[in-house]
This record gives sequence, C-alpha cells and structure tokens, in this order.
Amino acid sequence: MAKQRNVYFFGGGKADGDAKMKEVLGGKGANLAEMVNLGIPVPPGFTISTDVCAAYYDNGRKYPAGIKEEVAAGLEKLEKMMKKKLGNPSDPLLVSVRSGAAASMPGMMDTILNLGMNDGAVRGLIAKTGNPRFAWDAYRRFIQMYSDVVMGVERDLFEEALDEIKEDKGVRLDTDLTADDLEALVEEYKEIVKEHAGKEFPQNPMDQLWGAINAVFNSWMNDRAIKYRQLENIRGLKGTAVNVQSMVFGNFGDDSGTGVCFSRDPSTGENYFYGEYLMNAQGEDVVAGIRTPEKLSTLEKDNPAIYKELVGYKNKLEKHFRDMQDIEFTVEKGKLYILQARNGKRAGAAAIKIALDMAGEGLIDKKTAVMRVSSGHLDQLLHPMIDPVAGKQAKKLTKGLNASPGAAAGMIVFTAKEAEEWHAAGKKVLLVRKETSPEDIGGMVVAQGILTSTGGMTSHAAVVARGMGTPCIAGASEVSVLGNSIEINGASFNEGDWLTIDGSTGAVYEGQLPLIEPDISKDMETFLGWCDEFRKKAARGNMKGFGIRTNADTPEDAARAFEFGAEGIGLCRTEHMFFEGEKQKLFSAMIVSNTKEERLARLKDLLPLQQEDFFGIFKAMGGRPVTIRLLDPPLHEVFPRDESKIADLARHLGIDVDKLKDKIETLEEANPMLGHRGCRLAITYPEIYDTQVEAIARAAVECVREGIPVKPEIMIPLVFTDRELNILRPNVEKILESVFDDAGVNIPVKIGTMIEIPRAAVRAAEIAEKADFFSFGTNDLTQMTFGISRDDIGTFLPDYLGQGVFDVDPFASLDEAGVGELVRFGLERGRDVKPNLSVGICGEHGGDPASIDFCYRVGLSYVSCSPFRVPVARLASAQAVIRNDPANAPKKPAKSAAKKASAKKPAAAKKSAVAKKAPAAKKPAAKKAATAKKPVAAKKAAAAKKPAAKKVAEKKTAAAKKPVAAKKAAAAKKPAAAKKAPAAKKPVGKPAGKKPGKK
Ligand code: PEP
Ligand code: MG
Repeated sequence: MAKQRNVYFFGGGKADGDAKMKEVLGGKGANLAEMVNLGIPVPPGFTISTDVCAAYYDNGRKYPAGIKEEVAAGLEKLEKMMKKKLGNPSDPLLVSVRSGAAASMPGMMDTILNLGMNDGAVRGLIAKTGNPRFAWDAYRRFIQMYSDVVMGVERDLFEEALDEIKEDKGVRLDTDLTADDLEALVEEYKEIVKEHAGKEFPQNPMDQLWGAINAVFNSWMNDRAIKYRQLENIRGLKGTAVNVQSMVFGNFGDDSGTGVCFSRDPSTGENYFYGEYLMNAQGEDVVAGIRTPEKLSTLEKDNPAIYKELVGYKNKLEKHFRDMQDIEFTVEKGKLYILQARNGKRAGAAAIKIALDMAGEGLIDKKTAVMRVSSGHLDQLLHPMIDPVAGKQAKKLTKGLNASPGAAAGMIVFTAKEAEEWHAAGKKVLLVRKETSPEDIGGMVVAQGILTSTGGMTSHAAVVARGMGTPCIAGASEVSVLGNSIEINGASFNEGDWLTIDGSTGAVYEGQLPLIEPDISKDMETFLGWCDEFRKKAARGNMKGFGIRTNADTPEDAARAFEFGAEGIGLCRTEHMFFEGEKQKLFSAMIVSNTKEERLARLKDLLPLQQEDFFGIFKAMGGRPVTIRLLDPPLHEVFPRDESKIADLARHLGIDVDKLKDKIETLEEANPMLGHRGCRLAITYPEIYDTQVEAIARAAVECVREGIPVKPEIMIPLVFTDRELNILRPNVEKILESVFDDAGVNIPVKIGTMIEIPRAAVRAAEIAEKADFFSFGTNDLTQMTFGISRDDIGTFLPDYLGQGVFDVDPFASLDEAGVGELVRFGLERGRDVKPNLSVGICGEHGGDPASIDFCYRVGLSYVSCSPFRVPVARLASAQAVIRNDPANAPKKPAKSAAKKASAKKPAAAKKSAVAKKAPAAKKPAAKKAATAKKPVAAKKAAAAKKPAAKKVAEKKTAAAKKPVAAKKAAAAKKPAAAKKAPAAKKPVGKPAGKKPGKK
C-alpha cells in the first residue's frame, strides 16, 4: 500500500494540493495551494495535513511514524526555494506556523510568526536588511508570541515590559522605539521567559519549529476551540492542519504594509472593494485592532500600482471561488503578496444581498444562492432595532464603526468574565473593551452587544460579533476605557450603567433605549421567495411540497407568523387561555368545584372567553389550517405558588385559604410530567375538552357567518393508545355536530393527535385508525425516549456535552438515531394505514435546521415552529430539499445540518416512508366528514392571500426577543422549549419559568 502523504508543498507556481482538499489541508492550506496554482503571488510553504492531527489524538498525542522526516523534507525544499536557511546567522529564513481546519474557526487556535529568530538570526537579518530596528522588533514579537503560545508565559508580562520601556523613553507608540530600545527589550523578554517558564528561550530553530507545530495541534483541543465548535455546531472534522510558510514583512518600513480586504462589503453586501490596511505593520496589528487602520481608498491614492494589482487578484479570486473573498495581503518593500484568501464571513443582510446579486450576475445559480445563506444570517435580520422615536430624542454619545448590525442595550461590563457572571445572574450586559481577543469568547457570546474603542471592521471583535450575529461597534476612539469606568467625550460611565448601541450605524447612546423588531427587507422577501420555490416544488413519493406552520397561541403571534410566511398553525397551545387573568380565576374556580354541576357552570363562564381567542386566531390565519391542541398541562399548574397570591385567589373564590391549599395539595403529583395531564385529564373530566371543543366550533361558526374562511383542526395530546381516542374522539365529534347542526353549517374539522409518547409511536397504526392527522411532539418524545426531564437537563447537560456523551442538546436538535427512529417508525405505521396522512412536527425541533433536514428526509408533511423561526424554517426547508436532491448535493459540508444530511442516504435512495404503499385491505376508520370536503372559501382565500412577509413585525420591547448570541448562550443552559420561544412569549407553563417536574 502506498504510504500516506502527510506534508503538501506549495510555492514556485505549483502546489501539491488544491481547493478541493479542505478536509486534508484545512481551508487555509487548500486555498493557499489553489492560489499558487492560479499564479497568485503567495509566499511558499508546506501544509501538514489534518490526518496528522487525527493520528496525533488517536495515539495519545503522539505523531505517526515518518512525520519528522516529511517535515524536514518540506523545510529543505522551502529553504532551497527561498535560498535561505532556518536559523542561518548570515541570512535566516523565517516562517509562520498557523493552524487551519476545514471549517473556519477565526482566532480560536494558535499561530506563531517570525519563527526561526534567535540570537544569531537577528544579526543575520540586520546584516541582510540593514534595518536593525526591524530585526529586533521581529525578534521581540517572536519571543512574546512563542513564549505565550508554546511556553505558557503570560502575554501581559511582555506587554507590561513594553509599556515600561515606552514610558522610560517618553514615547507613545511602539513604532517610536529605537533599535537599541528593542534590543534591550529582547534581553528583558528573555529574562521574563527564564523566570516564568523556568528555562531559557529556545535558540535551536528545529526545537522552535516542533514547539510551534505541537502548540498548533494542541490548540485544536483548547477550551476556546472546543467551545467555538460547540457554538457553531462544527462537527466531524479530523482536526487542524498546520501551515508552515515563509514570512513576508509588512513592517519593513514605509514601502511595506499589510491589510485585510473583502471583495464586497461584508456588512451590507454592496459590491465594492472594501478593506483596511496599515503601513509599516504586521498582520496581527490589523486583526488585533491595536491600531486603527486606513481605508483601501487611501492605498489607491498612495500607491496606485499596488492597489491595481490587488484589485486584479481580488477579481480573479472572486470569479474563481464564485463567492465573496476575504483576502489578507502584505506589501514587502513594494512587492505585493497574498497571504490568505477564503470565503468571507458576512453579516446577515450582506449574505442575502451577495447571494441575490451573484445569482443576478450569473456567477452562481439560484440553488447555490439559497445554500449560501445560513439560519444564523436570517436570525440576525430579526434583531431588534432602536425605536426611531426614542432614537431621535436619545443622547448620542459617540460613533464608531458599524461592525455588526442590530441594536443592543445592556449594562456595561469591562471583562469577559464579568459578562459571563452578570449574565448568569440574569442581567443584560454590553461588553466594552479596548479590543477583544479570542480568550473573550465566553463573554462575547453572552453579551447583548460589544463595543470596542480600537480596531477596525476586520478586528477580532468585529469578525467574531458578525459571525455570532451580535451587534457590535468597533473603533469607537472617543471611548476611553479606564479600568472600571469609561469616559466618552467628558461623560463618565461606571460598570453597570446602561448604554445602547446601534451596530448598524455605529452610534452609541446613553441609557436603555426601547428596541423594536425590524422590517423584513425587500431583499429578504425576495430571497425567502426563492426558498419557497424549492420547498413548494419538492416531491417525495406521492407527497408534494414541504409545509411551514407555526406554534402560536394568540392572535398577535398568529398574525406575526403569517407575516413571516407561516402557512398555518401547527400547534396552538390552549393552556394560556385558562391560565391567564380572569380566565385563570374562572378555571381555578372550576377545579375547586365540589360537584360536576358546579364545574360545568364555571366552564360555561369560560366558554365565551375562549371562543373569542379562537375567533381571533382563525381570523389571523385567514383560512389556513389551525391546529388547536386541547388542554395538556396538569391542572394544579393553574394555581399560584406564592402564599399571598393563594390568599388573594381564595378571597376571590370565596373559600377558605386552607381549603384552597388542601385542594392544591391533593392535585400535586410526584412527577407531574408523567402524571395527570394531556388527554388523561379528559378521561377524568370530559367536560373540560367538551367546553374547549364547543368554543372552537362556535368560533368557527362565527367566522363562517362573517365570511372568514376557517380550517380548524383539533389535536388531542399525550395519547399512548387508540383506546383513549376511542373514548375522546366521539365526544369531540358529538359536540361539533351539535354546534354545527344548531347553526345550520357544515364545517369540516380534522381530529388528530400528537405522537409524543414512545408507545404511541410504536402503536401508531392503531392510533392512525382513529386520527385524521399526526403531529410529533418531539419535546415530550425526547424527554420520554431518553428518560431525561426536559426541565432538569440543564444541571448535567454541560457535563454530557463536555464529555462527549452528547454532541448537541437533544432538546434543541433532534436525536436522529433514537428519537428520530421513533418518528420514522410512527410515520411509516401511520401511513401504512392512511397513505395521505398529514404528519407534522410541533416540538421545538421544528425550528432547528438540522432537525428540519431530518423531517424532510423522513417524509413529514410540514414543520411547525415559533413565529420568529418561521423565516429560518423556510430557508432550512429549502436547503433540505436542495441538499437531499442527489443531483444537487454539495460536496461534504462541515456544518452539522449539512453533515447529517450528507451522512445519510438521500431521501430518494431510501425506502421512503412516503413512498411506502398502504396495504389496500385496511380501511380508514376516521369519520368521513372530517376529511372529505374542503371548504371552497378556505381554498380561495389560501390561494389569494399570500403572506406579504414585508410589513413591520409587531413592535416589541427589547425584552421581547433575545438576540442570537443570547439565544446561543441560553442554548447551553436551558431546555430547548425555553430556548426557542421569544423571551416575552414563552408559552404559559413552559420550562423556563417553572419548577422542576412541572410541565
Ligand atoms: C411536545 O411535547 O413536543 C409539544 C409540542 O408539546 P409541549 O411542549 O407543549 O409538551
Ligand atoms: Mg408535549
């Protein structure tokens, strides 16, 4: 067998690899190779493959045999090409050693620059360049970086020494230090290393090289890289590659410089060449935000030839990769080098605009355009904005760069640690820093927004915030960070004071401004329209299209979801109709009733109130299906826990407090999630469901009388056997019939059930005989399949994720191997009986892209999710359709949704649940009336009135919707059900606000 190659060379117009080899060479290595093949000037080097990283970890952090020799050969080739030798005291080769995995993980892993510097090399570099200042500066930077990354010596110790010498010399900038100053600093740095690392700084360049390679491979498993992969859902990669590349220097003097540019604006998507650079600087100065850089237009003025050459490479790269490029360049003594090119990270609005524009320009097709936008991008566009009225009157303190769009208000904190602590204590924080660095990731994730006083659009803060969808302002130079306070134009703000930032404009405001939801832009509307084309055209077996519904409990939510493009309601949880205000009191009175008559009387009082709610929802959905779930949570949840509130309620009900407490106590259960809830309530108290059904029927009649098309669906929760439906379904039918007969109308109403108990999935064939539709309640199904309480998982989820038992929270993303099998089984059994059975999902997984992909593949009719997830569900569904069409499958995506999809056989190749034929002998038992006639009015309305998806979403306060970052953080701590619902819209009785064990 041929020996596996581990080292791939690039340079001199030829590379061993190419862009298709991302899995092996990492994104950076593969693109460097591709650029060399394209004839772009790239400093030569070699890439140590990700296979080495995988073997290193498989073998308990030991390298595979032969790797030392391969690296030595790669180095020799590089030395020959550069006509220099690593560590040569007369003309040293210096290299960078950088990480680079198949998926981009900006700043999460380690990098070493200027490697090869030692006491001899520095002299050689001085002799060769005649520039002692440059040589000593390169050496001191190398010691600082290497000692921090490889030897674990704190970076701050070097920073302090640097500050001290600047103070001693009375200078402000690093660049004001002389060669002698820097030489002295090098000696001091070496002392720091000796004292804190307990050994001398290594002088042998091969020791340095292997120290750096080890550090990069080890950084694959550092805490921040692990955390980043978790947050970004990056899974299934082999590891990082290591790129060893000859150095070029942007800090050689005033004919040198370095910069980062984007082939289109990464914030807005505008098609113009966007970038920043610094003269006489190294790349890290731009990225770290240590100095605020110049615009590319200045380069055009100062050095038109270089600018022109750069534009040429930019055009070539964008055309070649057919995507917006993020390009790092360095000019060394007037010669331009491209150090890196990759598909650029972009803000949500930019992602949509670039996808639409590139499709318009013929650079990509519509399918590719749809695949180019992520759910995170869309999510960003649903971020709050500052209420314009309040914004006009607000005090604008200063302006920085609009680094990541969206508005955020929070109490200011100055360290990432504080941000995490304050967030854990339930506070909204705004992280204010001079600049951020990768160690700050934890604080950045939980912050509502990020404000930095230095750095540009390509600084760490800007890049990371954009990726996370967190509003960010960078380079707000009028903000002076002074330990535990900041000063902005003379005004002082302390830790805990409120500021509001607008990441779309760069404005910083005093205080906490009200935020509102943004419009859905024209671009977004067009883009989602494209998504819908793919989704609606999808065909699986005899099933056409893939629907999007919403979980909405109020007319306002229903209207919002409709604006966002929902095609119906997949779950209307009716508990809030009982557990709120006046209805709560009436419902409590019903529960404490002593006789059935009394109970019925209370329910009668409730009926008109519910009817009004249902009417509002039907009206908002204008003839689209509305699935109303009958009461689900245990009865005692209606009662308050607070002593004084219990006393109030007792007074209101006109009963003794102790009696009420006794009643509450009798209703309490050891394990209410497995107790007297769902359809079990109606087995005991049929009058509760009867009342709800009557309210639904009356509301439907009211709609018909007012000419409003209506399509009600009644859903019975928590069944585990058809016998429950044998009792409950006839009750529902009887009430419907009686109301409709009285009114002289005939409104078809489907009566279906939730499949949320494993037994129900297993016995789905019998259940389907009694149900007109199924909806998988995957919250409960996950809970009961794992035997993990959805309310209690938070206490041990971090351990399960940390130790690799879970790749992802199963309440956030559907467990395909276990819960998914039950879904598949239940669906197949159901469709065996009724081939056209409508089967959806209404658990929180219905809004999760990876789970949506599964739902599509398995053959569900639709997904249902919270209103704010509807646009994401439209996108994720279209992507599932495209991804699972064998003709369209993209090559090996690294993200989880795509990964899951590509790891499985495409739907068409599988024995599809949809395609499966029902046995001809079985007769559908459901009542004819329920499924037969579609109301003409409803059909017409559905055809006529398409969701406009453009009107301003309802005004909400800042609290009403968590931005992505806050949501992401919550994801790590909260059960799925709590996470996905907009904060102010949590369904009554859902996990976040509840005691353990309660539903
Ligand atoms: C479910 O269990 O998935 C579901 C939608 O119902 P609930 O979350 O209300 O229990
Ligand atoms: Mg449930």
